[in-house]
Amino acid sequence: MTDVMVRAPLDGWAMTLGSVPDPVFAGGMMGGGLAIDPTGDTLHAPCDARVAAIHAARHAVTLDAGNGVQILLHLGIDSVTLGGAPFTMLVAIGDRVGAGDPLVRFDLDALVRGAAAAATPVLVVEPDGATITDLAAEGPIRVGDPLYRVTAADTSGAAATATGETLRHEMRVGLPHGLHARPAARIAAAARDSGAEVTLLHGADRAAATSPVALLSLGLAHDAAVTIEARGAGAAAAIAAIVPLLTAEVEGDVTHRSSPAPVAPAPVDPDALVGVAAAPGLVIGTACWLRPAEPDLPPAATVAEEQARLDAALRSVGAALAAPAGGAQIAAVMAAHRAILDDPDLVADARRRIDTGASAAASILAAAEAQGARLRATGNARVAERADDIRDVALRVVYAALGTQPAALTLPEGAILLAEDLLPSQLAALDAARLAGIAVAGGGPTSHVAILAAGMGVPMAVALGRPLDGVADGASVILDGDAGTLLAEPDARRRAAAVATIDARAAAEATARAAGDRPATTRDGTPIAVYANLGSVDDARAAAAQGAEGCGLLRTEFLFLDRSAPPSIDEQAADYAGVVAALGGKPVVIRLLDVGGDKPAPYLDLPAEENPALGVRGIRVSLAQPALLDAQLRAILAVPDRAACRIMVPMVASVGELATVRAALDRLLAEIGGPPVQLGAMVETPAAAATADLIAAEADFLSIGSNDLTQYVLAMDRGNPALAAGIDGLHPAVLRLIATTCDLAARSGTPVSVCGGLAADPLAAPILVGLGVRTLSVPPARVPATKALVATLDGAAAAAHARAALAADGPAAVRALARAFSQESR
Ligand code: PEP
Ligand code: MG
Repeated sequence: MTDVMVRAPLDGWAMTLGSVPDPVFAGGMMGGGLAIDPTGDTLHAPCDARVAAIHAARHAVTLDAGNGVQILLHLGIDSVTLGGAPFTMLVAIGDRVGAGDPLVRFDLDALVRGAAAAATPVLVVEPDGATITDLAAEGPIRVGDPLYRVTAADTSGAAATATGETLRHEMRVGLPHGLHARPAARIAAAARDSGAEVTLLHGADRAAATSPVALLSLGLAHDAAVTIEARGAGAAAAIAAIVPLLTAEVEGDVTHRSSPAPVAPAPVDPDALVGVAAAPGLVIGTACWLRPAEPDLPPAATVAEEQARLDAALRSVGAALAAPAGGAQIAAVMAAHRAILDDPDLVADARRRIDTGASAAASILAAAEAQGARLRATGNARVAERADDIRDVALRVVYAALGTQPAALTLPEGAILLAEDLLPSQLAALDAARLAGIAVAGGGPTSHVAILAAGMGVPMAVALGRPLDGVADGASVILDGDAGTLLAEPDARRRAAAVATIDARAAAEATARAAGDRPATTRDGTPIAVYANLGSVDDARAAAAQGAEGCGLLRTEFLFLDRSAPPSIDEQAADYAGVVAALGGKPVVIRLLDVGGDKPAPYLDLPAEENPALGVRGIRVSLAQPALLDAQLRAILAVPDRAACRIMVPMVASVGELATVRAALDRLLAEIGGPPVQLGAMVETPAAAATADLIAAEADFLSIGSNDLTQYVLAMDRGNPALAAGIDGLHPAVLRLIATTCDLAARSGTPVSVCGGLAADPLAAPILVGLGVRTLSVPPARVPATKALVATLDGAAAAAHARAALAADGPAAVRALARAFSQESR
């Protein structure tokens, strides 16, 4: 039995308690209609607690007092409509506060003028069976006066029922796509952190919650019945943490989401094998099958020796995965592989097999195969894709245990690698200089290996199916990574056409590369800056080598994700400074933290949401947590070459959000001194596009995030594979909003760039230029191709083409126009 004493959170406010529905009750100054002598301007913590949530409009704070008692403090009735203006948050989510600590400062006049009523409800949500004792006397109440005592009956959380030492919670899965990789990883982390022994039950199947793979293999679809069983000291906390993770979608793969492959034009050759586009580019080469031999497994030594061998192999693979070479995408894939390596079920299964006399290598391989089979059996394509990653990690362990390496495949010059399936480590082991393209029978465009191929600039088609078996080793093939097609043994005419296209592109790219970082210009002399989208210092080096004229989007979230605490100001400043230095002082647009929605950061403790894409994400997170914004702005201002830095605000929906960031920036500039820094806004919401004139008045530049803009204009989740074919940035609706943005921004002469995937799509870039976009920011590997494309354009023709695209009746019609335009421009 634990008591939580709830004390008055405001000073000088009368408070009358109304009648209280059970188990939630409300008190506050409106309870009896009294609002006397409001002299206070600060809301205080009514008890010792942790800040569990801060409403985006900063008018409400939820405190978690422990033992299931949650207290919602709400300033004013309907004060959400004030958009946060009267309120200054003094705490951040996750902060521990003591009774009486200040939480929110507010402008009382603005609150009274703007809200429906200046009431201050206090809602206490307490666990089942708790008793609430009313301690308040009528009349003026001072901060710290006792209001209620909540005596918790047990620590099981509102919906959990105790059975001996084991707590059980039954629920249905709310995740729209069922349970998949990222929520499973978060559940495993929550279970581990709780210290309790947690199991999920679905029908007759059970899974240890600490094992993401075991969780995935339950195959939990949307609305599936599931029971969470928790035993031990942290049982209630475990259930409280896991329920929201099973309730609202938190799935996401930032590396994939952040640079989706451009939507492919329809295949044109009826003789080609048709798969799915995974990485762009056209290439002719020699087919070279990867048929990996199964590792040669020697007989087992003693159980003790094999257990020790497994330990050593796990350690050495762990160390290799912890220090990946390469850019942010490789780091993200390796982080995912580390999580697999840490999966206790995988290792425990391998140990059991060793105990029965198998070798370390055979055991880990068999354990991985068993887990992979369970994932494939779920029938969920995304979950099944993770089976490849498990096998990949297991093979690393196998070779480490054996002290050997897989036989290296010697690629011919210009090889098009054909494979049933391709693992990230197999791709990494290939001679990249000889690898011209990749065609895979299985796989998917969201697989890690597809992301890596795109990052390497290697065209790739996946899901080509069984017909791929018919392509012989050594055959001549044309791979079109934009269309996702493979043509074997092309006739002379097709070969000549492909050669002509490739030669023309290569010559143009070579010219662009030779021009270094000089701006690309259209044929009629309009400079179009080609910048790069970056996620790390390594990416910045690659971009500089490709002739990028700057960075149009530094995705700072990579620094904030997959860790247990936010990076310090110094760590952030060092990272940003590294990127600026790698680009030799060229402009670097640093995007403020863009997390939430599909990019979760566990330590931010963002509440689970029904619709994460429409929830607290992008700048809404930073505005709700001013300390986070403050730290990031300070880090940017601390970059030695501040003149190179620009600041960009993600997910802007209202000009007020930009104004708030500008006020924070101005305050810090006044404190720190030094030259000003440009502040721009991303146009990713229809609201921002429609009010681009208002936003441009507050912004030094606008940058169109076409990935999100497309998802919000078309109301299609950019991460939903079922919608992948329809979510096309060349939809006229998206193009019209881009046109609107350019037109409205032009009124104040505010420059507009595009940093979403459309900028790198060769069919889209001419339309963007025709609409008035003057900076395209693309992945580093696409910089030369984009510059080369720009050099083929004529401004007037591009403008006419853009007008035709705006008038087209759908995305297919736009793509047909765009293909015809690109043929003519060659
Ligand atoms: C976009 O939405 O187009 C964008 C560039 O941001 P991200 O892909 O990182 O959401
Ligand atoms: Mg975006």
